[in-house]
Amino acid sequence: MSADGRSARRTAADIASAVAAGEESAAAVLDAHLAVIESREPDLHAFVSVLGDEARERAAAIDRSVAAGEPVGPLAGVPVALKDNLCTLGLATTCSSKILEGWRPPYDATVVRRLADAGAVIIGKTNMDEFAMGSSTENSSSGPTRNPHDTAKVPGGSSGGSAAAVAAGFAPLGLGSDTGGSIRQPAAFCGVVGMKPTYGAVSRYGLVAFASSLDQIGPFATTVADAALLLEVIGGHDPADSTSLDGPAPAARSRLGEGVDGLRVGLCAQLLTGAAPDVAARVHEAAEALAVAGARVEEVSIPEFDYGLSAYYLLAPAEASSNLARYDGVRYGLRVDAPDAAAMNRATRTAGFGAEVKRRIMLGTYALSAGYYDAYYGQAQRVRTLVVEAFARAYADHDVLLGATAPTTAFAIGSKADDPLAMYLSDLFTIPSNLAGHPAISVPFGTGDDGLPVGVQVLAPALAEPLLFAVAAALEVATPQEETVP
Ligand code: GLN
Repeated sequence: MSADGRSARRTAADIASAVAAGEESAAAVLDAHLAVIESREPDLHAFVSVLGDEARERAAAIDRSVAAGEPVGPLAGVPVALKDNLCTLGLATTCSSKILEGWRPPYDATVVRRLADAGAVIIGKTNMDEFAMGSSTENSSSGPTRNPHDTAKVPGGSSGGSAAAVAAGFAPLGLGSDTGGSIRQPAAFCGVVGMKPTYGAVSRYGLVAFASSLDQIGPFATTVADAALLLEVIGGHDPADSTSLDGPAPAARSRLGEGVDGLRVGLCAQLLTGAAPDVAARVHEAAEALAVAGARVEEVSIPEFDYGLSAYYLLAPAEASSNLARYDGVRYGLRVDAPDAAAMNRATRTAGFGAEVKRRIMLGTYALSAGYYDAYYGQAQRVRTLVVEAFARAYADHDVLLGATAPTTAFAIGSKADDPLAMYLSDLFTIPSNLAGHPAISVPFGTGDDGLPVGVQVLAPALAEPLLFAVAAALEVATPQEETVP
């Protein structure tokens, strides 16, 4: 297998069946991917840490199981890139923050355990915006990740490392977290599939919390079917997460290949307003493709979505300011010594947090402060309810909604770094699903005028993952073929 990323571009399902059948060793699969990493990682910086030795041990153990005729799971020997806010027992988990320097989690996240049970091989921990706050993976204590399609561009964020890793062929699968769009937006920028599950469908146990009422872990993959397979592996009830839904993982693959004949698709005006003309053109082509495949596409207006961004930027920082209070220089990672505890706490947080994290903590503390609580936090909660109700009305007449994932294709590194508001606007189209707790997916659909990937977003009601993946698969089949391999 060559190291140009192309021949490593096999699906996870393919690799797992070859490994399980003993036709190919997990060790060889791993080596092929490590070779791709060696050749391109210096230019991309997708990883905070590559777990070569741990992964080799794991691959060898899978090969021994295959040789012994023991059952191996549905991801046997498949390399997976993990966002560095997912706890890995004994292995550094940094959230790309200085404040977690040197911290090694005493447990595995539930999704990490489920990956291990399924036979997957964790190949590395990926770079991210610090504590998942950002849309470009530039807010990282170890420097930015670059877009594999054009290294002058951002990969999106905050799960930019996982998106870039999958796009570059470093691993066929990746995991990210999506609080306001952090899986779907980087998936769109990097030309891969990225999906945010229904809130509660995937356990958050061991996901370092940003905004707990919005955070969800979800899959990155090069195909819709692989993303669905990964969701089936990581999803399902977990008693360790009090917000975990009862029941098994969504049967994400159950309707793949069913097509969209007769489905009612709502092309949502608010998920296009403000999109660049080339991005909007791809979304219209996607709508047309679904119509050709038999769907009934109608335009729908959901004005409440326009208030989503403002509500999110009160709610998410409010929850973050509370969640991040735990980094006190005592319990985790960095400590900057000072004469007394309060001074130590202040010095540690001053040195350990980056500028964007500090901005969020201050915004959130302000939104929650006495006298302002009702005007800001309370009002934002009421807007959240309006968004939920607006979705319910839209879904009375439509099975799924369609729109852009992000307003533009990948932007230049540095171009929004000094303008938080411009950066926040990248999430305009992804935030409504987080506020409602609904699933949504970004599917690559052609390219923009700059030749960079465009993502089309499909949104569905809570727990409608099988339907969501069916529509995504129909879009995948209709994708314009000129796509570039980075
Ligand atoms: N970009 C958004 C933010 O900065 C969303 C982040 C996320 O989904 N983790 O808050």
